[in-house]
Amino acid sequence: MLNIVIFGAPGSGKGTQSELIIKKYGLDHISTGDILRGEIENQTELGKIADKYIAKGHLVPDELIIAMLSSILDTHPHNKGFIFDGFPRTLAQGEALDKILRDHSTSIAVTINLSVDEAELTKRLLKRGEIAGRSDDNIDTIHSRLEVYRKQTEPLLAYYKKQGKLIGIQGNGSVDDIFEKVSEALDRINK
Ligand code: AMP
Repeated sequence: MLNIVIFGAPGSGKGTQSELIIKKYGLDHISTGDILRGEIENQTELGKIADKYIAKGHLVPDELIIAMLSSILDTHPHNKGFIFDGFPRTLAQGEALDKILRDHSTSIAVTINLSVDEAELTKRLLKRGEIAGRSDDNIDTIHSRLEVYRKQTEPLLAYYKKQGKLIGIQGNGSVDDIFEKVSEALDRINK
């Protein structure tokens, strides 16, 4: 199995690159943000809880996210691999993911970190707010999400680096140029 974590701040292009990776490598996409937005739309119990955190730009508690992810993995028994997009976002989630994958006799092959400076991230998120109408793409929530990313999510980079699984890619530039660099990195490990 080829299991990939796509990592980066909100607005770094994780979703866009994930779509291209899925097409080329035939992986299953797991975007915790998309799943949570689906739960909110369907007004499930999880959705009602998640909505409060998402609206403020805070993280949904680890135990809810980990339980949600664990049950999703159980429903994809024979795939080529997963691309995890927006998960893990805390060290506890990273450790839980390793354990869940171990229980399925697999592991993370590589983590791709898309780095983009904060001025560009803010610009992209505000633009997405206008186009896609995502309720959390407004200036106050964006600041909060970027701070949460720096404090709670960025420390995970050291976790993957220590395991020799981190590949950094400059996330500025055209979607195609970035995907070329992502593909090169994935082809190297997927020989
Ligand atoms: P995203 O679409 O990945 O930017 O996620 C949107 C929002 O959903 C985030 O700002 C969080 O409030 C919540 N969320 C998504 N994934 C996670 C996660 N792995 N852990 C906690 N909260 C999450």
